[in-house]
Order: sequence, then structure tokens, then C-alpha cells
Amino acid sequence: MKGLAILGATGSIGLSTLDVVARNPGRFAVRALTAGRNWQRLLEQCRQFRPAVAVLLDPAAAAQLEAAVRAEGLAVEVQAGAEALAAAGARPDVDYVMAAIVGAAGLLPTLAAARAGKRILLANKEAVVMAGNLLLEALAASGGELLPIDSEHNALFQCLPPGRDRDSDGAGVTRLLLTASGGPFLDTPLAALEEVTPAQACAHPNWEMGRKISVDSATMMNKGLEIIEACRLFGVPVARVGVVVHPESIIHSLVEYRDGSMLAQLGNPDMRTPIAHALAWPERMPSGVEPLDLAARGSLNFRPADPARFPCLALAMQAAAGDAGAPVVLNAANEVAVAAFLAGRVRFTAIAAIIDAVLAQYTDSAPADLESILALDAHSRDAAEEKIRTLAL
Ligand code: NDP
Repeated sequence: MKGLAILGATGSIGLSTLDVVARNPGRFAVRALTAGRNWQRLLEQCRQFRPAVAVLLDPAAAAQLEAAVRAEGLAVEVQAGAEALAAAGARPDVDYVMAAIVGAAGLLPTLAAARAGKRILLANKEAVVMAGNLLLEALAASGGELLPIDSEHNALFQCLPPGRDRDSDGAGVTRLLLTASGGPFLDTPLAALEEVTPAQACAHPNWEMGRKISVDSATMMNKGLEIIEACRLFGVPVARVGVVVHPESIIHSLVEYRDGSMLAQLGNPDMRTPIAHALAWPERMPSGVEPLDLAARGSLNFRPADPARFPCLALAMQAAAGDAGAPVVLNAANEVAVAAFLAGRVRFTAIAAIIDAVLAQYTDSAPADLESILALDAHSRDAAEEKIRTLAL
């Protein structure tokens, strides 16, 4: 039995992870579950999975959970706050850590788990975008390992030769090709994008995801973050990472080889496949996902990403080509802009304008350590808020 901690247990990835765990009895013991403030869902998960510890960032929510856990006589220790969150994945009884907190908030708990030598199942792409090198250094020093959960990076990992995922040159790889669904506005008239609502932006055609990543998919900043993630995880320059729009989300990404071969990983769009892959690796186990019926699908389509429709993609590529600080700035400005859009404070089309303005202010200062990364993140958030004040509806 492998001890499992799930950071972000109450979210979309957290729920899918617990679904896969429940389908494979006897393989995993859930030791720690964490969330922000959704104590009711965490309570349901405590009833079913009996973790040793349940942690909420919000102390008031943790007090509610503690009262409920006591009343039901569950043997679960309830903790609160950022330090307890960071400790959850570093526990000695934990082997695998699902890093599925959304946004920069996931960085410190993920880094703590990496320093403790765990197998990190990495969904929290923002942590890699901000501090990929620190994470990889921590894993190398501790003897931990990282398996990508993002469906694209999980696909690339599966298509790269075993053991050569950080040595793609030597393995004859010429390019990594990320597929992008194009999100809900792929064919929306450009002029109508000004007026789209958060509900429309969160209605993804193929995937059920949390609200932040759903908006990122609609702007294609999600693909932009994934380009940076691919550069960090697989050690390739941005010039060797491409994007192709594939509206059906059946091919999850491809690796192009020197001899003209392209290897792709296919499957129905359901995150339980990459989650089960990373949990069982190097074995395979059931995920609950239906096998793909290609004949029923009939056709798969591809087209280039339209830069006028998706300006966030170019902003991300610009940041990817810059120094290590530019992705930190990009990510922070995007998080603030997306939150403002979801709160009805700015238009959908303002998201790219806010990020552009904050990136334009950045003068290279490649942050070398965690403290400088966090300081640059905080400074960029302030700059984004400042820009929002000038744009607010
Ligand atoms: P959700 O919004 O559905 O869930 C986020 C989780 O993080 C929840 O458990 C939430 O708790 C918790 N959380 C939020 N803020 C904080 C905080 N400040 N401190 C601690 N915990 C917090 O997100 P998703 O599951 O969709 O995404 C999670 C990560 O996985 C993201 O980085 C995303 O980009 C990535 N990812 C997601 C995919 C998907 O299909 N959903 C696909 C590929 C990558 P609470 O419920 O209490 O708010």
C-alpha cells in the first residue's frame, strides 16, 4: 500500500484522484487530504477515505470540520493554516503526493513535498511555471520524483523513450507538440468576445475543470502555461515546443522524432487516465475511463492557433523566451486578471491587456531563490491590481 496525500482534494483533480483510488482498493492508503475552505466536501471525503489528517487553509472552516468530525467520532486529525498545509505532503507515512491546489498557492506545499523526497503527481502547473527549477533541484536532492498529471505533459511523458524524458536531444526528439482544444470560444466571432460571461467561459466543450483553469483554456493562457511547463519538465527550449488546435481533445500531445516519426497518446478526455497512469507508473491500473472508440469518432481535426483570437498565447511564449522571472510575472498577472474577470470586475478581453501591461513593466531580474520568486509574484499582483483599477467596468 502506498501512502497518499492529496493537496486540493475538494477540487476537480482531487475528486478524480479519489475516484481512481476507490476503484483500486488495497493499492493506496489516503493519509492526508487538504483544501482551502470547503469543509463540507472534505468531511464527506473523511467519511469515505479516513485520512490520518485533514487540513484546511481557512481556520474558521477547519473549526467547522473539526466539530463535525468529533460529532461523528471519526479518527481524523483536523489542522488549519498554511504551515499545516505544507506539512501534509511531507508526512513520513506519505509516499505519493497529488499536487492539485490551483494557482501559486500550491507552490509551497508542493515544494515541501519535493524536499521530503516524495513522488509528486503534478497537476499544479502554476508551481512549475513559477519555480520549476527549484522543484526539480529539490527532487534531485531528496531522491523524489515527478510525474506530470496535466494531460498534455502526461502524454509527452508516455511518448518519450523511457528514462530519456530529460534527455530528448540524445533520444532523437526534434519537437514536443501540445494539442489545444481551443476552448469554448474557438469559433465565436471576435467582436463578441468583449461580452462573454464567466459562465460561458467556464463551459468547456470537452473537460470538466475548476473555474480558473477553465478561463485559462478559454484565453489559451492554459496552453501558454503548458508551454513553459513543458520547457521546465523536459528541459527543452521554447523554440522546440509547438501548439496545434485539436478541438476534439482526443490526442493529448505528440512527440516528433528526427526520423519523421510522431508518437501520440490518445484517449477520451477524462483526467482519470493521466491520474491513474501517474499513480500506477510504471504499471497500469484501471481508471474508470471508457476505451476510445475511434470508428465511432470518425474524424479528428487540427488547425493552427489564431494569434488574434488568443493573444495570451503570444504573451506566454514571450515570457517563456525571457529570463526565469518573466513566467512568474505572467502567472501572477494572469491569476489576478482571471479572478477579476470571474468576479465581474473586468471584461474577458481585458485579461490579455492586463497581463501585457504587467509584463511590459518587468525589467529582467531573474529571481534566484524562493524568496525572490515570492517577492516578484507579490509585486506583479500589485501591478495587475493597479492596471485593473484603470480598466474596471
Ligand atoms: P479546482 O478549483 O477545482 O480545485 C482547487 C483545489 O485547491 C480545491 O481543493 C481548493 O479548495 C484548493 N485551494 C484553492 N485555493 C487554495 C489555497 N489558497 N490554499 C489551499 N488550497 C486551495 O481546481 P482544479 O482541480 O481544476 O485544478 C487544480 C490544479 O490542477 C490547477 O493548477 C490546474 O491548472 C491543474 N489542472 C487541472 C485540470 C483539470 O482537469 N481540472 C487539468 C490539468 C491541470 P476549496 O475547494 O476549499 O476551494
